[in-house]
Amino acid sequence: MINLKMYIDGEWRDSENMETRPVINPANGEVIAYAPEGTVADARAAIYAARKAFDDGVWSDLSAQERASYLLKIADKIDERAEELTQLETQDNGKPLREAGFDMADAASCFRYYAGLIRNPDGQTYHVADPMQAMVVREPVGVCGLIVPWNYPMLMSVWKIAPALAAGNTIVYKPSEVTPVTPMKLFEIFEEVGLPKGVANMVMGAGPVVGHEISAHPEVDMVSFTGGTKTGKQIMKTAADTMKKVSLELGGKSPNIIFADADFETAVDYALFGIFAGSGQVCSSGSRILVEESIYDQFVERYVERAKQIKVGPGNDPETEMGPLVSQQHMEKVLYYIDLGKQEGATVACGGNRITTNGLDKGFFVEPTVFVDVKQDMRIVQEEIFGPVVCIQKFKDEEEAIKLANDTVYGLAGGVFSNDGAKAMRVIKKIRSGITWINAYHPTYNEAPWGGYKQSGIGRSLGTFGLDEFQEIKQININLQVEPIGWFSN
Ligand code: NDP
Repeated sequence: MINLKMYIDGEWRDSENMETRPVINPANGEVIAYAPEGTVADARAAIYAARKAFDDGVWSDLSAQERASYLLKIADKIDERAEELTQLETQDNGKPLREAGFDMADAASCFRYYAGLIRNPDGQTYHVADPMQAMVVREPVGVCGLIVPWNYPMLMSVWKIAPALAAGNTIVYKPSEVTPVTPMKLFEIFEEVGLPKGVANMVMGAGPVVGHEISAHPEVDMVSFTGGTKTGKQIMKTAADTMKKVSLELGGKSPNIIFADADFETAVDYALFGIFAGSGQVCSSGSRILVEESIYDQFVERYVERAKQIKVGPGNDPETEMGPLVSQQHMEKVLYYIDLGKQEGATVACGGNRITTNGLDKGFFVEPTVFVDVKQDMRIVQEEIFGPVVCIQKFKDEEEAIKLANDTVYGLAGGVFSNDGAKAMRVIKKIRSGITWINAYHPTYNEAPWGGYKQSGIGRSLGTFGLDEFQEIKQININLQVEPIGWFSN
């Protein structure tokens, strides 16, 4: 059994009322840990510790080089413990070892990226009228509340923690209650590298309790949240009372457009990867495949044939290509949507069921599921299912593809497959989404900004933009001739 604690003001702590909640391995339903059930008092203790550490300048007063050296040590420790972290991520979240391994490598790389970036020039000076000199400097925002979901427990955390710390902020971080294991290991690493106490604090517990307190508390200067759009709206409302800076990475229902002139097998392959990687529990998943009508039937036939061959199983089996869903509750939500799709009149071309054979009956496994005969106004086309469920639709021409692609409240990601480069570029430019691909789906890089248009969020993670989120901009105007201005006569 893994022993989980919260990390507040440099100490490992249980919840103040000693309550815990079980953490379940979704591949077999077994309890792998008990997590402290943090309370409002625990959240406040973490907020006060972060406030004190920020106000004392134990972190923000360090030079960029000194902060970067901590980040580099953290990256090295993640690499050293990658095998252990990968195994734990698979146990806790369910994802195949191959996926978890990529996450750990990316997490280390993200710390290294921000260690480098923070040492780059970051200000501006302006040639204004004499005798003034104007300049702009960047400063940390202060105490940052970081709230993350369960689909990439380590990676989503690092996307926020690395830039927030690089910029000199102190943090109050909350993992999802469903997946707190690797986040706790990350905080062990923070302790090992000697991060000053109070700089990084972790509180576990329910979103509406701990997450709400972080979003509401006046001593928190910013809240950076990744999760569902509904929760994001709630957080934005809560944060408005104290006018916190808000950064939101939310849900999606992303289109993947396949033109008849695309390389057929490449398009099929990426369209499978686009939705079934991570069991569809990826915010940017290509959950709506739009196919040009002349190749529609051929595409569906080949796609279904390949989808049926995906090896579903426990993440720790090296043969597994798709793992379980993260929890029983989430599996039930996905199965609800599959039922809903049938009721709405869509046809299940393959999948559609929970898997209980081959020893998978205790886990939360759902078949790769393909819907055809869908209409644009169906809820399975409009709403985020966040599981291994894809809708394949038909379009006539470029104009209709763009119209269908943009016709949801979301705007996170999108792909276009075509061998006509000009057409692919024309279409991608019309897609109202923040993350897009041409002749590929999913690859992403620490250097490039991640985030959405419309109801998929506000702000960006990663890249220089991801650092900007955690910085305030200050103008400084210096009088180079120190004498009265003489504006008033006396
Ligand atoms: P949720 O929105 O349910 O939860 C995300 C986090 O917010 C969890 O830590 C949760 O706590 C917490 N939370 C819940 N309620 C509140 C509240 N009232 N105030 C403050 N915090 C709260 O999302 P899921 O965990 O279900 O994650 C799936 C969603 O995340 C999908 O919609 C997906 O698209 C989105 N996502 C977006 C990404 C992006 O970059 N755009 C990336 C990854 C995921 P707890 O669960 O512990 O109660």
